[in-house]
Amino acid sequence: VHYPFVLTPLPYDYNALEPFIDEKTMHLHHDRHLKTYVDNLNAALKNYPEFQTWSLERLLKNVNWLPEDIKTPVKNNGGGVYNHEFYFNNMSAERDTQPSPELLEQIDRDFGSLDEFKQQFKKAALGVFGSGYAWLALDKNGKLVIKQTANQDTLIPLELCPVVVIDVWEHAYYLKNYNVRADYIDNWFHVVDWQKASVNYEKHTAIEKA
Ligand code: MN
Repeated sequence: VHYPFVLTPLPYDYNALEPFIDEKTMHLHHDRHLKTYVDNLNAALKNYPEFQTWSLERLLKNVNWLPEDIKTPVKNNGGGVYNHEFYFNNMSAERDTQPSPELLEQIDRDFGSLDEFKQQFKKAALGVFGSGYAWLALDKNGKLVIKQTANQDTLIPLELCPVVVIDVWEHAYYLKNYNVRADYIDNWFHVVDWQKASVNYEKHTAIEKA
């Protein structure tokens, strides 16, 4: 997948996450916010055919070596595309899914229990100052860690492998929850796709074992 990047449809209906995340928010978030990142990323690459064959991951990994005038637009808008696709793909129309036995075992090992993880994750998501994300990720030693990122920064420069992400920009919840981010996080826990998270986790651990 490379330039021109396209707006990937949601993997479920706009109202699929109701009543936890409302249909109008999903429309605005996907059709306007994500679309703007896609359009601006394409605009940044328009006059640079040499980078039009690069994948999004490759662009973000090498962002500091890009020409000065597209460095910041690619970092912000490419990050916006990458983060939002991850976020939308790790929610599900199914309610209260559960991690795989393997992922659950490591969550128990690294955080004590799933409930303890949820408390720590909620605290991290609440603690993002301004706009950003909270992630569950695997570090280079194969340990699960919770990480905050600001704006549209990604985990790519930190060499962390993403398992789950929550978008805590206000546009993700303001229409429904106003300024009460804690309510949005509690709602999000009902629609987070732990099956998808488990696939992400197993993909990364398989690479480490290879
Ligand atoms: Mn967002």
